[in-house]
Amino acid sequence: MSISRKIQGFIESASWIRKMFEDGAYLKQKYGAENVFDFSLGNPHLEPPEEFYIALKEESEIHRPLQHGYMPNAGFWETREAIANYLTQEHHIEFSPHEIIMTCGAAGALNVILKSILEPGEKVIVPLPYFVEYKFYIDNHGGIIKTIPTKETFDLDIEAIEKHLDLNTKAILVNSPNNPTGQIYPEDTLKELADLLYQHKEKYNRIVYLIMDEPYRKLIYDNEKLPNIFQIYSETILATSFSKDLSLAGERIGYLGIHPQATYKKELIEAAILANRILGFVNAPALMQRVIKHILNTSVDIERYKRNRDFLCNGLAECGFSFLLPKGAFYVFPKTPIADDITFVKALQKELILAVPGSGFGAPGYFRLAFCVEEKVIENALPHFRKIAKEFGL
Ligand code: PLP
Repeated sequence: MSISRKIQGFIESASWIRKMFEDGAYLKQKYGAENVFDFSLGNPHLEPPEEFYIALKEESEIHRPLQHGYMPNAGFWETREAIANYLTQEHHIEFSPHEIIMTCGAAGALNVILKSILEPGEKVIVPLPYFVEYKFYIDNHGGIIKTIPTKETFDLDIEAIEKHLDLNTKAILVNSPNNPTGQIYPEDTLKELADLLYQHKEKYNRIVYLIMDEPYRKLIYDNEKLPNIFQIYSETILATSFSKDLSLAGERIGYLGIHPQATYKKELIEAAILANRILGFVNAPALMQRVIKHILNTSVDIERYKRNRDFLCNGLAECGFSFLLPKGAFYVFPKTPIADDITFVKALQKELILAVPGSGFGAPGYFRLAFCVEEKVIENALPHFRKIAKEFGL
């Protein structure tokens, strides 16, 4: 075979996802993109804030030597310094620029982290439902994904984690605010998790890293507060980006942050810098590194996402769908009125609504709607949701 059997298997297992996108593209072609209600992608529709364009203009007008050249694999010192200061303020723990490594988005950060820590066959625990790419990222570096159930509220089930924690476990990968549920793991739960991991370390002399994937950290609603994980667990590695909160998903700019008190901090930093290089990223995009250092305290207008959330969720609730109100990110994850979520998503497609079945996140019986869309998409879609809800007896 011309391609590896493994990638062939991945293509096949992801084929229905691909088919959904193909069906969506076909529907847009047939009925016009404006008549198809596309809630399938987490591609932020808001413009980046004005501050971004100002910083971009200023930085691109500077002509300095190697303005667009290679740089140290960890990224520009000034950018890492600005981020270290930002994290110090946010988490009330002193960060040094050494602990920050600039990456190609949060995806780049996750791959660099996993490459740095995993021995072949080691296990990474991932709570359900989960961002589907995790499975591939873990496999990229020879790891084994172990998904574990969460509670009805999608909160972490510490007992379930304890059951699966063993000497072969290298990390727990947690995403909050969560894609696809929009939920935030509460501080108490994260403290319980930290206690469990500290006990494990004490008992077996084995560190289990907590990989905290937080690209949606700034996208939270109703005065929710996100726990400061660096205050809770000292073997934490943060993966994040500016893809969602600054709408820069296509610019591939993010970073990883290693806890200043991590036991093997020096080794982790060295490994991550090399991994950034040998994974072929080499370094995060130069111009974006120069730009984002000016706008770390800025974000898109989060109120706009909140308005979308309320508009869509009120509409869905009136139709009779049941779901947890998202506390952050820009996804809602309702239950499907029938057990077969793929059949239900196909029925939505007949009404020109594009959604993703929960099966894609390891959680059959749900569907995900991304509400990072124009308000009129929601407005025009609601009558179709009503029709479907009636058809399915809600
Ligand atoms: N982690 C989660 C939970 C995501 O939803 C995404 C993107 O949708 C990523 C990571 C990757 O983010 P980036 O585009 O910054 O690589």
